[in-house]
Amino acid sequence: MTSSISERITQIRASIPPSVRLIAVTKQMPTEVIRAAYAAGIRDFGENRIQEAATKQAQLQDLSDITWHFIGHLQSNKAKKALEQFHWIHSVDSLQLAQRLDQLAGQLGVSPQVCLQVKILPDPSKSGWTVPELLTDLPELDKCKTLQIQGLMTIPPQGLKDADVSYVFNTTHELAKGIAEQKCSRIKMQELSMGMSGDYQLAIQAGATMVRLGTILFGKRT
Ligand SMILES: *Cc1c(COP(=O)(O)O)cnc(C)c1O
Repeated sequence: MTSSISERITQIRASIPPSVRLIAVTKQMPTEVIRAAYAAGIRDFGENRIQEAATKQAQLQDLSDITWHFIGHLQSNKAKKALEQFHWIHSVDSLQLAQRLDQLAGQLGVSPQVCLQVKILPDPSKSGWTVPELLTDLPELDKCKTLQIQGLMTIPPQGLKDADVSYVFNTTHELAKGIAEQKCSRIKMQELSMGMSGDYQLAIQAGATMVRLGTILFGKRT
């Protein structure tokens, strides 16, 4: 098991450009899996539940150079915990949440790196800004003092054809470029968090800078 994790990581890492950050998504996986991935060189880990992550992080304190990425839907009442436990939050999906995180981060003295989650195609199962909503909220988002808004995150709806998945990723990239041209004072658009096990190659072709991989590294979650 352990050796196959390291083999898969080596294989997948080699298939991804070195400039693309590989985030190992370990939700529902035990800490032994995280340790095996760490031993294989992974330092970026993604989790989608605050409590589950807290339990594992408590058991992994010796691995002090891990960068933790929160990738799940974040409820406002867990915003403080998210800031205490994670360096990155990929799934900031509303102005209200961004402002709450910004305020709390100031109080806590942390400067979290975040991505804004966008929906390019309608998807009732996902949260996030539509393109017009994001463009409307941009001036207010740019007033966040402490959040380090670094780019966009997207998840295509399930069951799309490759061409449509690529459309979602390319449109997200174009949106990021468009926002970058607006010369916001604080918002940066240098990161694109997109691509999971089934579509990361398409995401990389479209300019992803971070891919979030679970199943392809660790097998199916039960
Ligand atoms: C679970 C999850 C992933 C990883 O998905 P796989 O298909 O297992 O690679 C990536 N991103 C998010 C937001 C997730 O919830």
